[in-house]
Formats: sequence, structure tokens, C-alpha cells
Amino acid sequence: MIENAKRMLCGHCGGRTFAIYQAAHLVVECLECHNTSLLVVATPTIDIEFGPDSEGRLCVLS
Ligand SMILES: [Zn+2]
Repeated sequence: MIENAKRMLCGHCGGRTFAIYQAAHLVVECLECHNTSLLVVATPTIDIEFGPDSEGRLCVLS
């Protein structure tokens, strides 16, 4: 659990599990209904840092 953060869910089905893909934007796919959302970053780069008490961080599946 991550403190001081709001849990996000699918706006279509309420699903809470997602797959994240790296494309022109970050694409988040709901694993329940497969609807997608685009995470559009205002700046041209995005940094992915370790979360609190995390030994791994988000990375690209090759
Ligand atoms: Zn969904």
C-alpha cells in the first residue's frame, strides 16, 4: 500500500489491475475490459524513480 496516494481505477468497469505500455505516450490498459488510457506527459522526458521501500521500479519488458 502506498500512503498519501489515491488508488486509481478504470473509468469504464472499475477494474483495478492494469498493464502499462511504452509507446509515443504511456498507455495503461485495464486488464478487465481492455479499455486504454494515455498518460500524456507535458515535458518531453519522464523519469521513473524508485518508490518508497521499493527494490524494483517500472521498466520496459524487452
Ligand atoms: Zn476496465
